[in-house]
Amino acid sequence: MSEKFLNSHYEKLVGSENDMDYMELETRLHDCIYSDNGTLITDPEVILEKVYREVGASKYKKYELKKTPEDLELIALVKNTVIEYAKQYGKDEFVNITDEHIHLLKEGSLEKISGGRLLQGSHSSFFGEVKIDRRSDIETAITTFHELWHRLASYNALQITKEGMLQNYRTGLHIFSRQNAEDKLLGPVDEALTGYMTKRFFNEVIQNDEMFKEELELLNESGKTVDTSRQKEVKRFLEFVDLIFSKDESRFTNKKEIIDIFIKAQVTGNILPFVRLIDSTFGKGATRKLANFLN
Ligand SMILES: [Zn+2]
Repeated sequence: MSEKFLNSHYEKLVGSENDMDYMELETRLHDCIYSDNGTLITDPEVILEKVYREVGASKYKKYELKKTPEDLELIALVKNTVIEYAKQYGKDEFVNITDEHIHLLKEGSLEKISGGRLLQGSHSSFFGEVKIDRRSDIETAITTFHELWHRLASYNALQITKEGMLQNYRTGLHIFSRQNAEDKLLGPVDEALTGYMTKRFFNEVIQNDEMFKEELELLNESGKTVDTSRQKEVKRFLEFVDLIFSKDESRFTNKKEIIDIFIKAQVTGNILPFVRLIDSTFGKGATRKLANFLN
């Protein structure tokens, strides 16, 4: 991995520091652009480090729950599994998301904080944090896995935009353009892959760990199904994998090989094999069309 990988909570920063717009940054980041003695910080990486330490780790006053030993155990189990799975797809270094950057909130908080936009979980590459509504152990573990897969397993890069703002550049296959940061590509694919991995976590870990035994028994008795997140996107994605497989069955031994190409791109940030797969299956430039297909 490149030397750039020294950053606290993101893997790469692209763009030129000469483009930084400090007036705009001050509106958004307030004190984070000033050092303790009041001088302006001009190094974007130092600003981001400060944002991560002072904002990402600070408590959500009205909403945050104090983590119990059980909560910490649950978080550790999820975090270790995220790292173990991501290693299987070729990721070898991980950013630092501490327990302070994992916020457990009272049920219903995220909906209130976001004005109805978010439901049970969210993650921020910029602040290096995840926010999760604390519900039952199984529900909380599922959402924590999903958000940490975005934040910890997926490749996270930030950018200094042409307008001088610090913003997202890549979160897994969620790719933002350099020209227009609002122009996003492959977001639904990224969600599908995250839902796919979360389902694997449910099947392999939740189904077998003592921590969830009692709740699972109650669930099974009630006949309720478990939402392993983004199920609609996962279904659509697997249909898409079927389509790639059926186009030329001699290229792959099984469908898992195709899925692995997608997930490797998501976690390592090396999207070339993935782009090659799509373009060679559907024609040059097809990757851009993929977003529409899966939407
Ligand atoms: Zn997601």
